[in-house]
Amino acid sequence: MNEEVRQELNRQKARWAAGQELFKAGAVKLGTDGHIRVNGYRVHTDPVSCECPDFKNRKQSCKHIFAVLAYLKGRQNGNHLTNSHYQI
Ligand SMILES: [Zn+2]
Repeated sequence: MNEEVRQELNRQKARWAAGQELFKAGAVKLGTDGHIRVNGYRVHTDPVSCECPDFKNRKQSCKHIFAVLAYLKGRQNGNHLTNSHYQI
């Protein structure tokens, strides 16, 4: 594995960890409009996307998406989102 790939993997792990913290802190909120928000950013689940600059730049799971996945994991209707495609 080359250095760049290794660093990107570490960054992604850090995002995952940050997402777990956001979830534990209760930052994931179900809005009255039916959208899920994390720290004010709207996160869509089908397909998975987020409004934050990190996601827009990279088109890969950001910490908000990981927080929502952790949130959905605790709910039965979120099981289809926890497949390997969205995990590290
Ligand atoms: Zn985001």
